[in-house]
Amino acid sequence: MASVNSIQILPDHVANKIAAGEVVERPASVVKELLENALDANSSAIRVEVVAGGRKYISVSDDGSGMNRDDALLSVERHATSKIRDVDDIEAVKTLGFRGEALASIASVSRFTITTRRRGDMSGTEISMAGGRILDVQETGCPEGTQVQVRNLFFNVPARRKFLRKEQTELSHVRQVLLVYTLSHPEMGWRLIVDEREAYVLPGQSSLEERLTDLFGSEYLKDLRPVDHQASEISVKGYAGLPGTARSSRSEQYVFVNGRPASAPTLGYALSEAYHSLVPKGRHPVIFLFVELPPDQVDVNVHPAKKEVRFRQAHRVRDAVINAIRDALSSPGETVITQSPDTAGRADIAASRTGTVFKIENLPETRIFEYPRLPSMEETVGNSPDIPDQTGHDTGDDGRRTRPWSWCRVVGQIGGLYVILETEDGMVLMDPHAAHERLLFEQFMRQAMHHSVRSQGLLTPDTVELSPGNALLVRRNLDLLRDMGFGISDFGGDSFIVDALPQCLGNTDPSSILAEVAHGLEEGGSRAGSERWSEERVASAACRAAVKSRDRLTLNEIEQLVIDLAGAEMPYTCPHGRPTIIFTGFSELDRKFGRE
Ligand code: ADP
Ligand code: MG
Repeated sequence: MASVNSIQILPDHVANKIAAGEVVERPASVVKELLENALDANSSAIRVEVVAGGRKYISVSDDGSGMNRDDALLSVERHATSKIRDVDDIEAVKTLGFRGEALASIASVSRFTITTRRRGDMSGTEISMAGGRILDVQETGCPEGTQVQVRNLFFNVPARRKFLRKEQTELSHVRQVLLVYTLSHPEMGWRLIVDEREAYVLPGQSSLEERLTDLFGSEYLKDLRPVDHQASEISVKGYAGLPGTARSSRSEQYVFVNGRPASAPTLGYALSEAYHSLVPKGRHPVIFLFVELPPDQVDVNVHPAKKEVRFRQAHRVRDAVINAIRDALSSPGETVITQSPDTAGRADIAASRTGTVFKIENLPETRIFEYPRLPSMEETVGNSPDIPDQTGHDTGDDGRRTRPWSWCRVVGQIGGLYVILETEDGMVLMDPHAAHERLLFEQFMRQAMHHSVRSQGLLTPDTVELSPGNALLVRRNLDLLRDMGFGISDFGGDSFIVDALPQCLGNTDPSSILAEVAHGLEEGGSRAGSERWSEERVASAACRAAVKSRDRLTLNEIEQLVIDLAGAEMPYTCPHGRPTIIFTGFSELDRKFGRE
């Protein structure tokens, strides 16, 4: 018979500490749980305060229902919840919480105080705890609602404490969590206090549009289209970014399911499907999406931190999301997405794919011009840059194949984007965006390498507001950016003042440049090696932004592009690796038409 005393039930404070491992990872996860409780308590305003990125102090106060003394004592017990009574209730749970573990878990790994007063009660209760044990319970005078204070997170779990990152990093995670909930609850008023300074105040009773404007500025909304779609029981609302808003990461895609920030494979799939053929692979448009459906159609109990949800009828949710976004993007007067083969439609698809409508002005019937030859494909790939031959045209057979273009004619433009060129040897399709990006990039990098970037002062310095994550990336790279000709200073919070830009970028909007640069830096992440590597990141991202902002090129500019491209170090791809030109020789055309 097995020994009866080799198995023991763990004491509560031990079990709680283990459970905390699942729910409490860092200050931001504490904030998340406390915010969810405040929201579940029907509050109308929430105040969050952190010190040292939340490592020293976190406080979340609400003006919600509050608790009486007995409930307050229960609330810090494990599996104590007022939100469900039975397993079946999980099926239809409408609140954000239901597992009844958050407070117990947080209290077990911190010095914890909860101060709460039930609406209408004469006085409140304050419970102080340390490492999961109750130190003191007192009757106290306090406002209606609840305040939870968490000091010295992980003071008793050194292993966890070691994994915490720098204050700034933890703070940016906290801000990101807050951002998500302020978006999903524009009706609530929010205040954030960081290191005893007010970081922001968002008024309550706002619409989503007002909240987005408060958070990101009104410019931001111009590239978003409202989504409003109902398919039987599923409603999909919010905003969908035009294809030009596509980023290299999903960090600006916010999806909520029944008010809960949620990811689900179904949703990710639906988003890529909705934007299929509109944005290149690996790019992610800005999205704010609110999916509402009957609670029994969603399983929220898939993940302890409730990050992922599962749908009972995934295909219906997927279809609803796809249709909602497609409708939004093709609403009248906006970028038209059409499957029909008429040329206008094609032009719009092409334009929306790059985010910019681009037209050649004053295209004449024919115009032939001489221009230096491009180095050949074969010579450039894997070789040192080829210097165009100045001495005249190669007419020998070998010469023709490797140096084919001694003259060139702009034939026209198709799809609202691609330029067709005729050369003596065949046809060239050029993506002027990619070509332009390549040229700017090389110019910028040449100057950067010689520490001679020319910088152009802005008439009026611009205050640029970034998302918390982007702000962190930019802040870390301020010196690099200054070396590269950006006149930029830290304005505190997530704001920067830009008073000069590298001259070669023209007059591009500083905020779109900075956002793109942050994305460029982020993409690289830990792969960051040499200094040169970061500079390339910055330069290629900035050039992308600069080129995106150009929506018209004159014929002369196109011709100049072709000429300059001939002198480029790497003429055949843009700095992001997309081709700039595609050449089809007459010999290939002849073969295809059966003339050979
Ligand atoms: P859960 O939210 O999953 O129920 P928690 O441990 O987060 O579990 O909270 C336990 C209980 O404490 C909640 O069910 C709720 O009744 C109560 N509670 C927690 N925070 C608040 C708050 N801010 N206002 C009112 N009641 C709260
Ligand atoms: Mg909770």
